Amino acid sequence: MKPPRLGIAIILSGPSGAGKSTVTNLLRQRNPDLCFSVSCTTREPRNGEVDGKDYYFIDKKDFQRNIRDNEFIEHAEVHGNFYGTLKSEIIERVRAGKDVILDIDVQGAFQIRKCSKQYSLLARCTELVFLGPPSFDELERRLRGRKTEKEDVIRKRLETAKLELDHWRDYDYLVINKEVEQTVKDMETLIDILHKSTKRLEDSGFYT
Ligand code: 5GP
Repeated sequence: MKPPRLGIAIILSGPSGAGKSTVTNLLRQRNPDLCFSVSCTTREPRNGEVDGKDYYFIDKKDFQRNIRDNEFIEHAEVHGNFYGTLKSEIIERVRAGKDVILDIDVQGAFQIRKCSKQYSLLARCTELVFLGPPSFDELERRLRGRKTEKEDVIRKRLETAKLELDHWRDYDYLVINKEVEQTVKDMETLIDILHKSTKRLEDSGFYT
C-alpha cells in the first residue's frame, strides 16, 4: 500500500528561449496525470493558443480584481504584460495528492518561495527547478530561430535572460536543456525521485 502524500508543485522557470513550454507540453502529453497550472495573463493570445488551456486571457481590469480579491499566489509583470498564478490552480490539487507543473518566471518563483515561509503546505509541496540553456549563445540562437518576435522584443528578452540566468543558484534543481527528449526524461526522473521525499508524506499512521 502506498502511504498518502501531498502532490508536488513543480515550479519550472528559466529564461525565455530555454524551452519551458516545449518541455512542459511534452511532459504533460507523456504524463496525463500531471496537472498544468493555467496562468492568467493580460497579453494577447498567440496563434493557436486556447483560452483556459494555455492561459486565461483576461483584461487589466479583471487582473486587478484578482489581485484585490487575493486570488493569486504570485503575480508579476513580464516583458510588459501581467501574469499571475491562481491559488485555485494549485492548493486543492496538491492537497488531493496531484502533481502540478507551473511555467512561471523567476520573479514569480521567488514570490512563491517567500510565501512558503508563512504557508507550510506550500513549503512542503513546492520544488523550484531552473531550466537553463546550454549557453547564452545557444539561447540567443534559439530565440532568433523562433522567428515569432521582432528584433526589439528579442533584445529585451536577452537582456532579461542575462539577469534571470544569474539566479540558477537560488533554485533547488538545475536542469540543462541541451536536447529536449533527454530533458523531458531528466524531468521525469527528477519527479520520480521527488515522490520518494518524506516531506510530503501525510502522518496518518502508515506503520501503525
Ligand atoms: P509567454 O508570454 O512567452 O507565454 O511567457 C512569458 C514569460 O511569462 C515566461 O517566462 C513564462 O514562464 C512567464 N509566466 C507565465 N505565466 C506566469 C505566471 O503566472 N506568473 C509569472 N510570474 N510568470 C509567468
